[in-house]
Amino acid sequence: MDLYEFQAKELFAKHGVPTQAGEVVRTPSHAHEAAERIGGMVVVKAQVKTGGRGKAGGVKLAKDANEARDRAHDILGLDIKGHIVHQVLVTPAADIAEEYYVSFLLDRANRSWLAMASKEGGMEIEQLAVERPEALAKVPVDAIVGVDQAKAEEIADAAGFDVSVRYQVVEILKKLWDVFVKEDATLVEVNPLVKTPTGEVLALDGKVSLDGNAEFRHPDHDVLVDQSAEDPLELRAKEKDLNYVKLSGSVGIIGNGAGLVMSTLDVVAYAGEEFGGQKPANFLDIGGGASAQVMADGLEIILSDPDVRSVFVNVFGGITACDAVANGIVQALALLEEKGEAVTKPLVVRLDGNNAELGRQILRDAGNPLVELVDTMDDAARRVAQLAAQGA
Ligand code: GDP
Ligand code: MN
Repeated sequence: MDLYEFQAKELFAKHGVPTQAGEVVRTPSHAHEAAERIGGMVVVKAQVKTGGRGKAGGVKLAKDANEARDRAHDILGLDIKGHIVHQVLVTPAADIAEEYYVSFLLDRANRSWLAMASKEGGMEIEQLAVERPEALAKVPVDAIVGVDQAKAEEIADAAGFDVSVRYQVVEILKKLWDVFVKEDATLVEVNPLVKTPTGEVLALDGKVSLDGNAEFRHPDHDVLVDQSAEDPLELRAKEKDLNYVKLSGSVGIIGNGAGLVMSTLDVVAYAGEEFGGQKPANFLDIGGGASAQVMADGLEIILSDPDVRSVFVNVFGGITACDAVANGIVQALALLEEKGEAVTKPLVVRLDGNNAELGRQILRDAGNPLVELVDTMDDAARRVAQLAAQGA
Protein backbone atom coordinates (compact mmCIF):
# COMPACT_ATOMS: atom_id res chain seq x y z
CA MET A 1 0.00 0.00 0.00
CA ASP A 2 1.42 3.35 -1.05
CA LEU A 3 0.86 6.24 1.33
CA TYR A 4 0.15 9.89 0.67
CA GLU A 5 2.91 12.35 1.50
CA PHE A 6 1.06 13.61 4.58
CA GLN A 7 0.67 10.05 5.87
CA ALA A 8 4.34 9.31 5.24
CA LYS A 9 5.26 12.45 7.18
CA GLU A 10 3.01 11.38 10.07
CA LEU A 11 5.00 8.14 10.28
CA PHE A 12 8.24 10.15 10.07
CA ALA A 13 7.14 12.35 12.96
CA LYS A 14 6.12 9.29 15.00
CA HIS A 15 9.69 7.99 14.71
CA GLY A 16 11.39 11.32 15.33
CA VAL A 17 12.37 12.21 11.76
CA PRO A 18 12.34 16.03 11.54
CA THR A 19 9.65 17.22 9.14
CA GLN A 20 7.08 19.99 8.81
CA ALA A 21 3.61 19.30 10.17
CA GLY A 22 0.70 20.59 8.16
CA GLU A 23 -3.00 20.33 7.48
CA VAL A 24 -4.77 18.37 4.78
CA VAL A 25 -7.76 20.14 3.22
CA ARG A 26 -10.21 19.56 0.39
CA THR A 27 -11.35 23.11 -0.45
CA PRO A 28 -9.68 26.48 -1.16
CA SER A 29 -11.42 28.11 1.80
CA HIS A 30 -10.14 25.44 4.15
CA ALA A 31 -6.67 26.01 2.69
CA HIS A 32 -7.12 29.69 3.59
CA GLU A 33 -8.02 28.79 7.17
CA ALA A 34 -5.13 26.35 7.47
CA ALA A 35 -2.64 28.89 6.12
CA GLU A 36 -3.93 31.46 8.59
CA ARG A 37 -3.42 29.06 11.49
CA ILE A 38 0.09 28.21 10.28
CA GLY A 39 0.98 31.86 9.61
CA GLY A 40 3.61 33.22 7.21
CA MET A 41 4.79 31.56 4.05
CA VAL A 42 3.26 28.15 3.28
CA VAL A 43 3.48 25.48 0.59
CA VAL A 44 0.33 24.02 -0.94
CA LYS A 45 0.98 20.47 -2.11
CA ALA A 46 -1.21 18.12 -4.15
CA GLN A 47 -1.78 14.84 -2.29
CA VAL A 48 -1.69 12.18 -4.98
CA LYS A 49 0.11 8.86 -4.97
CA THR A 50 2.57 9.69 -7.71
CA GLY A 51 5.86 11.56 -7.95
CA GLY A 52 6.74 14.60 -10.02
CA ARG A 53 4.01 16.74 -8.51
CA GLY A 54 6.26 19.78 -8.48
CA LYS A 55 6.89 19.63 -12.23
CA ALA A 56 3.18 19.10 -12.89
CA GLY A 57 2.23 22.28 -11.04
CA GLY A 58 1.05 20.45 -7.93
CA VAL A 59 3.43 22.14 -5.45
CA LYS A 60 3.17 25.91 -4.97
CA LEU A 61 4.48 28.44 -2.51
CA ALA A 62 2.06 31.00 -1.06
CA LYS A 63 3.11 34.08 0.90
CA ASP A 64 -0.13 34.39 2.86
CA ALA A 65 -3.56 32.85 3.43
CA ASN A 66 -5.17 34.54 0.41
CA GLU A 67 -2.49 33.20 -1.88
CA ALA A 68 -2.82 29.77 -0.28
CA ARG A 69 -6.52 29.78 -1.13
CA ASP A 70 -5.76 30.72 -4.76
CA ARG A 71 -3.04 28.10 -5.12
CA ALA A 72 -5.33 25.44 -3.59
CA HIS A 73 -7.94 26.49 -6.13
CA ASP A 74 -5.39 25.97 -8.93
CA ILE A 75 -4.19 22.60 -7.64
CA LEU A 76 -7.45 20.93 -6.53
CA GLY A 77 -8.89 19.05 -9.49
CA LEU A 78 -5.58 18.90 -11.37
CA ASP A 79 -4.87 15.67 -13.19
CA ILE A 80 -1.34 14.57 -12.30
CA LYS A 81 -0.35 11.51 -14.32
CA GLY A 82 -3.93 10.26 -14.21
CA HIS A 83 -4.43 11.05 -10.51
CA ILE A 84 -7.05 13.69 -9.81
CA VAL A 85 -6.15 15.92 -6.86
CA HIS A 86 -8.88 15.80 -4.20
CA GLN A 87 -6.84 17.10 -1.28
CA VAL A 88 -3.88 19.36 -0.65
CA LEU A 89 -1.39 19.58 2.19
CA VAL A 90 -0.82 23.08 3.53
CA THR A 91 2.49 23.18 5.36
CA PRO A 92 4.96 25.82 6.57
CA ALA A 93 7.40 26.73 3.80
CA ALA A 94 11.02 25.92 4.51
CA ASP A 95 13.91 27.94 3.12
CA ILE A 96 16.16 25.64 1.17
CA ALA A 97 19.94 25.89 1.02
CA GLU A 98 20.60 22.36 -0.26
CA GLU A 99 18.49 19.40 -1.41
CA TYR A 100 19.49 15.79 -0.69
CA TYR A 101 18.07 12.35 -1.34
CA VAL A 102 17.84 9.30 0.94
CA SER A 103 15.88 6.06 0.72
CA PHE A 104 15.60 2.49 1.96
CA LEU A 105 14.10 -0.13 -0.25
CA LEU A 106 13.86 -3.81 -0.97
CA ASP A 107 16.48 -4.81 -3.54
CA ARG A 108 14.92 -7.97 -4.92
CA ALA A 109 17.69 -8.68 -7.42
CA ASN A 110 20.27 -8.84 -4.62
CA ARG A 111 17.92 -10.34 -2.05
CA SER A 112 18.71 -7.65 0.46
CA TRP A 113 17.75 -4.23 1.69
CA LEU A 114 19.35 -1.26 0.04
CA ALA A 115 20.10 2.26 1.18
CA MET A 116 20.49 5.00 -1.41
CA ALA A 117 21.69 8.51 -0.70
CA SER A 118 22.82 11.55 -2.63
CA LYS A 119 23.84 15.14 -2.02
CA GLU A 120 21.99 15.97 -5.24
CA GLY A 121 18.34 15.53 -4.36
CA GLY A 122 15.30 17.38 -5.58
CA MET A 123 15.29 16.08 -9.11
CA GLU A 124 13.83 12.73 -10.05
CA ILE A 125 16.11 10.03 -8.78
CA GLU A 126 15.67 7.85 -11.86
CA GLN A 127 17.15 10.70 -13.89
CA LEU A 128 20.04 11.16 -11.46
CA ALA A 129 20.74 7.42 -11.53
CA VAL A 130 21.02 7.52 -15.32
CA GLU A 131 22.82 10.84 -15.79
CA ARG A 132 25.19 10.87 -12.83
CA PRO A 133 25.21 7.39 -11.29
CA GLU A 134 28.39 8.22 -9.36
CA ALA A 135 26.44 10.85 -7.41
CA LEU A 136 24.04 8.24 -6.03
CA ALA A 137 25.51 6.05 -3.29
CA LYS A 138 24.09 2.56 -2.94
CA VAL A 139 24.82 0.66 0.24
CA PRO A 140 23.38 -2.81 0.98
CA VAL A 141 21.86 -3.23 4.44
CA ASP A 142 22.00 -6.55 6.23
CA ALA A 143 18.52 -7.46 7.45
CA ILE A 144 19.80 -8.80 10.79
CA VAL A 145 22.15 -5.95 11.64
CA GLY A 146 19.99 -3.19 10.14
CA VAL A 147 21.09 0.45 10.18
CA ASP A 148 23.10 0.94 13.33
CA GLN A 149 25.44 3.87 13.99
CA ALA A 150 28.23 2.37 11.88
CA LYS A 151 25.94 1.59 8.93
CA ALA A 152 24.33 5.04 9.04
CA GLU A 153 27.81 6.62 8.98
CA GLU A 154 28.83 4.35 6.10
CA ILE A 155 25.80 5.49 4.07
CA ALA A 156 26.34 9.19 4.84
CA ASP A 157 30.03 8.94 3.95
CA ALA A 158 29.38 6.96 0.76
CA ALA A 159 27.18 9.85 -0.39
CA GLY A 160 29.83 12.34 0.73
CA PHE A 161 27.72 14.49 3.02
CA ASP A 162 29.55 17.52 4.36
CA VAL A 163 30.72 17.33 7.95
CA SER A 164 28.37 20.23 8.81
CA VAL A 165 25.29 18.04 8.18
CA ARG A 166 26.80 14.57 8.70
CA TYR A 167 25.64 14.18 12.29
CA GLN A 168 22.05 15.16 11.45
CA VAL A 169 21.93 12.96 8.35
CA VAL A 170 23.22 9.98 10.33
CA GLU A 171 20.55 10.48 13.00
CA ILE A 172 17.85 10.82 10.33
CA LEU A 173 19.03 7.65 8.55
CA LYS A 174 18.72 5.66 11.80
CA LYS A 175 15.21 7.01 12.40
CA LEU A 176 14.11 6.38 8.81
CA TRP A 177 15.33 2.81 9.25
CA ASP A 178 13.05 2.62 12.30
CA VAL A 179 10.17 3.72 10.08
CA PHE A 180 11.18 1.10 7.53
CA VAL A 181 11.38 -1.81 9.97
CA LYS A 182 8.86 -0.94 12.68
CA GLU A 183 6.13 0.02 10.22
CA ASP A 184 6.96 -2.92 7.88
CA ALA A 185 7.64 -0.78 4.82
CA THR A 186 9.10 -1.91 1.51
CA LEU A 187 10.07 1.65 0.57
CA VAL A 188 10.92 4.76 2.54
CA GLU A 189 12.11 7.66 0.42
CA VAL A 190 12.84 11.30 1.18
CA ASN A 191 13.33 13.58 -1.83
CA PRO A 192 14.21 16.20 -1.00
CA LEU A 193 15.79 15.99 2.40
CA VAL A 194 16.82 19.64 2.78
CA LYS A 195 19.28 21.77 4.63
CA THR A 196 17.86 25.14 5.58
CA PRO A 197 19.99 28.32 5.52
CA THR A 198 20.33 27.99 9.30
CA GLY A 199 21.77 24.49 8.90
CA GLU A 200 18.83 22.35 9.98
CA VAL A 201 18.15 19.15 8.06
CA LEU A 202 14.54 18.05 7.53
CA ALA A 203 12.34 15.87 5.32
CA LEU A 204 10.38 18.05 2.91
CA ASP A 205 8.76 15.19 1.03
CA GLY A 206 8.04 11.58 1.94
CA LYS A 207 7.17 8.43 0.10
CA VAL A 208 6.35 5.24 1.98
CA SER A 209 5.03 1.89 0.74
CA LEU A 210 3.83 -0.52 3.38
CA ASP A 211 4.09 -4.28 3.04
CA GLY A 212 0.54 -5.62 2.61
CA ASN A 213 1.64 -9.03 3.89
CA ALA A 214 2.44 -7.49 7.26
CA GLU A 215 -0.92 -5.73 7.59
CA PHE A 216 -2.05 -8.10 10.33
CA ARG A 217 0.72 -6.78 12.59
CA HIS A 218 -0.48 -3.19 12.23
CA PRO A 219 -4.12 -2.62 13.12
CA ASP A 220 -3.20 1.07 13.43
CA HIS A 221 -2.50 1.14 9.68
CA ASP A 222 -6.17 0.52 8.86
CA VAL A 223 -6.82 4.27 8.95
CA LEU A 224 -4.24 4.77 6.20
CA VAL A 225 -6.37 2.88 3.68
CA ASP A 226 -7.89 5.27 1.21
CA GLN A 227 -11.49 4.06 1.11
CA SER A 228 -12.59 6.60 -1.50
CA ALA A 229 -9.95 5.48 -3.99
CA GLU A 230 -10.92 1.82 -3.88
CA ASP A 231 -13.55 0.16 -5.98
CA PRO A 232 -16.65 -0.13 -3.72
CA LEU A 233 -17.21 -3.74 -4.75
CA GLU A 234 -13.57 -4.58 -4.01
CA LEU A 235 -14.08 -3.09 -0.55
CA ARG A 236 -17.22 -5.14 0.02
CA ALA A 237 -15.40 -8.26 -1.12
CA LYS A 238 -12.49 -7.51 1.19
CA GLU A 239 -14.87 -7.14 4.13
CA LYS A 240 -16.07 -10.66 3.37
CA ASP A 241 -12.53 -11.98 2.86
CA LEU A 242 -13.11 -12.66 -0.82
CA ASN A 243 -10.52 -12.13 -3.52
CA TYR A 244 -12.37 -9.99 -6.05
CA VAL A 245 -10.69 -8.10 -8.87
CA LYS A 246 -12.41 -5.68 -11.24
CA LEU A 247 -11.57 -5.91 -14.94
CA SER A 248 -12.94 -4.14 -17.99
CA GLY A 249 -15.06 -6.69 -19.90
CA SER A 250 -18.59 -8.10 -19.66
CA VAL A 251 -18.33 -11.65 -18.27
CA GLY A 252 -18.39 -12.17 -14.50
CA ILE A 253 -16.15 -15.00 -13.34
CA ILE A 254 -16.30 -17.08 -10.19
CA GLY A 255 -14.01 -20.00 -9.61
CA ASN A 256 -12.41 -21.90 -6.77
CA GLY A 257 -8.65 -21.69 -6.57
CA ALA A 258 -6.31 -19.15 -8.13
CA GLY A 259 -5.03 -21.47 -10.86
CA LEU A 260 -8.48 -22.41 -12.11
CA VAL A 261 -9.63 -18.79 -12.04
CA MET A 262 -6.58 -17.58 -13.99
CA SER A 263 -7.05 -20.17 -16.72
CA THR A 264 -10.79 -19.37 -16.83
CA LEU A 265 -9.90 -15.76 -17.62
CA ASP A 266 -7.80 -16.90 -20.57
CA VAL A 267 -10.37 -19.34 -21.88
CA VAL A 268 -13.16 -16.74 -21.71
CA ALA A 269 -11.09 -14.04 -23.41
CA TYR A 270 -10.19 -16.53 -26.15
CA ALA A 271 -13.77 -17.73 -26.64
CA GLY A 272 -14.99 -14.13 -26.52
CA GLU A 273 -13.08 -13.19 -29.66
CA GLU A 274 -15.72 -14.99 -31.68
CA PHE A 275 -18.45 -12.84 -30.11
CA GLY A 276 -17.23 -9.32 -30.71
CA GLY A 277 -14.39 -9.41 -28.19
CA GLN A 278 -16.23 -10.32 -24.97
CA LYS A 279 -13.82 -10.33 -22.03
CA PRO A 280 -13.92 -10.98 -18.28
CA ALA A 281 -15.58 -8.14 -16.33
CA ASN A 282 -14.06 -9.24 -13.05
CA PHE A 283 -13.10 -12.36 -11.22
CA LEU A 284 -13.66 -13.76 -7.84
CA ASP A 285 -11.78 -16.64 -6.31
CA ILE A 286 -13.93 -18.30 -3.68
CA GLY A 287 -10.95 -20.37 -2.60
CA GLY A 288 -10.31 -24.06 -2.27
CA GLY A 289 -12.46 -24.79 0.76
CA ALA A 290 -15.29 -22.39 0.01
CA SER A 291 -18.65 -22.90 1.70
CA ALA A 292 -22.14 -22.32 0.35
CA GLN A 293 -22.26 -19.00 2.18
CA VAL A 294 -19.07 -17.88 0.44
CA MET A 295 -20.60 -18.83 -2.90
CA ALA A 296 -23.65 -16.73 -2.06
CA ASP A 297 -21.52 -13.74 -1.04
CA GLY A 298 -19.42 -14.10 -4.18
CA LEU A 299 -22.36 -14.26 -6.56
CA GLU A 300 -23.92 -11.23 -4.92
CA ILE A 301 -20.77 -9.20 -5.49
CA ILE A 302 -20.24 -10.36 -9.06
CA LEU A 303 -23.85 -9.63 -9.96
CA SER A 304 -23.65 -6.15 -8.39
CA ASP A 305 -21.13 -5.14 -11.03
CA PRO A 306 -23.16 -3.26 -13.66
CA ASP A 307 -20.70 -4.26 -16.41
CA VAL A 308 -21.53 -7.93 -15.97
CA ARG A 309 -23.85 -9.32 -18.64
CA SER A 310 -23.35 -13.03 -17.98
CA VAL A 311 -21.63 -15.04 -15.28
CA PHE A 312 -19.39 -18.07 -15.53
CA VAL A 313 -19.23 -20.21 -12.40
CA ASN A 314 -16.34 -22.60 -12.91
CA VAL A 315 -15.82 -25.03 -10.06
CA PHE A 316 -13.67 -28.04 -9.60
CA GLY A 317 -15.00 -29.86 -6.56
CA GLY A 318 -12.32 -30.84 -4.09
CA ILE A 319 -12.48 -30.23 -0.36
CA THR A 320 -15.67 -28.36 -1.05
CA ALA A 321 -17.70 -30.77 -3.11
CA CYS A 322 -19.82 -29.69 -6.07
CA ASP A 323 -23.09 -30.34 -4.24
CA ALA A 324 -22.14 -27.75 -1.60
CA VAL A 325 -21.32 -25.27 -4.34
CA ALA A 326 -24.59 -26.02 -6.15
CA ASN A 327 -26.49 -25.46 -2.93
CA GLY A 328 -24.61 -22.19 -2.54
CA ILE A 329 -25.74 -21.06 -5.97
CA VAL A 330 -29.37 -21.99 -5.26
CA GLN A 331 -29.28 -20.25 -1.87
CA ALA A 332 -27.61 -17.17 -3.32
CA LEU A 333 -30.28 -16.80 -6.01
CA ALA A 334 -33.05 -17.17 -3.40
CA LEU A 335 -31.31 -14.70 -1.09
CA LEU A 336 -31.03 -12.07 -3.80
CA GLU A 337 -34.67 -12.53 -4.75
CA GLU A 338 -35.72 -12.05 -1.11
CA LYS A 339 -33.78 -8.80 -1.05
CA GLY A 340 -35.66 -7.65 -4.13
CA GLU A 341 -32.53 -7.91 -6.28
CA ALA A 342 -33.69 -10.87 -8.31
CA VAL A 343 -31.03 -12.04 -10.73
CA THR A 344 -31.69 -11.13 -14.34
CA LYS A 345 -28.36 -12.13 -15.80
CA PRO A 346 -27.67 -15.63 -17.15
CA LEU A 347 -25.35 -17.96 -15.27
CA VAL A 348 -23.33 -20.65 -16.97
CA VAL A 349 -22.18 -23.28 -14.51
CA ARG A 350 -19.53 -25.90 -15.07
CA LEU A 351 -19.09 -28.39 -12.26
CA ASP A 352 -16.43 -31.05 -12.26
CA GLY A 353 -14.64 -33.17 -9.66
CA ASN A 354 -15.95 -34.28 -6.29
CA ASN A 355 -19.75 -34.95 -6.40
CA ALA A 356 -20.13 -33.19 -9.76
CA GLU A 357 -23.17 -35.16 -10.81
CA LEU A 358 -24.90 -34.56 -7.48
CA GLY A 359 -24.24 -30.85 -7.87
CA ARG A 360 -25.66 -30.77 -11.37
CA GLN A 361 -28.76 -32.61 -10.15
CA ILE A 362 -29.31 -30.01 -7.43
CA LEU A 363 -29.19 -27.23 -10.02
CA ARG A 364 -31.48 -29.09 -12.42
CA ASP A 365 -33.98 -29.67 -9.60
CA ALA A 366 -33.94 -26.00 -8.67
CA GLY A 367 -34.99 -25.31 -12.25
CA ASN A 368 -33.91 -21.69 -12.48
CA PRO A 369 -34.24 -20.78 -16.16
CA LEU A 370 -31.25 -18.41 -15.90
CA VAL A 371 -28.88 -21.19 -14.87
CA GLU A 372 -27.35 -23.27 -17.66
CA LEU A 373 -25.18 -26.30 -17.06
CA VAL A 374 -22.34 -26.92 -19.48
CA ASP A 375 -20.03 -29.89 -19.06
CA THR A 376 -16.66 -28.68 -20.31
CA MET A 377 -14.71 -25.53 -19.59
CA ASP A 378 -14.26 -24.62 -23.27
CA ASP A 379 -17.93 -25.07 -24.13
CA ALA A 380 -18.98 -23.15 -21.03
CA ALA A 381 -16.65 -20.28 -21.94
CA ARG A 382 -18.09 -20.12 -25.46
CA ARG A 383 -21.65 -20.13 -24.15
CA VAL A 384 -21.04 -17.45 -21.52
CA ALA A 385 -19.33 -15.19 -24.07
CA GLN A 386 -22.24 -15.69 -26.45
CA LEU A 387 -24.72 -14.74 -23.71
CA ALA A 388 -22.69 -11.63 -22.87
CA ALA A 389 -22.78 -10.59 -26.53
CA GLN A 390 -26.54 -11.14 -26.63
CA GLY A 391 -26.98 -9.09 -23.46
CA ALA A 392 -25.16 -6.10 -24.95
P1 GDP B 1 7.40 15.98 -5.88
O1 GDP B 1 7.65 16.87 -7.06
O2 GDP B 1 6.13 15.17 -6.06
O3 GDP B 1 8.55 15.11 -5.54
O4 GDP B 1 7.11 16.94 -4.63
P2 GDP B 1 8.11 17.57 -3.54
O5 GDP B 1 7.45 17.53 -2.24
O6 GDP B 1 9.45 16.93 -3.61
O7 GDP B 1 8.23 19.07 -3.99
C1 GDP B 1 8.80 19.44 -5.24
C2 GDP B 1 9.75 20.59 -5.06
O8 GDP B 1 9.09 21.71 -4.52
C3 GDP B 1 10.89 20.32 -4.07
O9 GDP B 1 11.96 19.62 -4.66
C4 GDP B 1 11.26 21.70 -3.63
O10 GDP B 1 12.19 22.25 -4.55
C5 GDP B 1 9.96 22.47 -3.74
N1 GDP B 1 9.43 22.64 -2.37
C6 GDP B 1 8.66 21.79 -1.67
N2 GDP B 1 8.45 22.24 -0.43
C7 GDP B 1 9.10 23.43 -0.34
C8 GDP B 1 9.28 24.40 0.71
O11 GDP B 1 8.82 24.26 1.84
N3 GDP B 1 10.02 25.50 0.40
C9 GDP B 1 10.57 25.68 -0.82
N4 GDP B 1 11.29 26.77 -1.02
N5 GDP B 1 10.44 24.79 -1.81
C10 GDP B 1 9.71 23.68 -1.58
MN1 MN C 1 9.78 14.87 -4.02
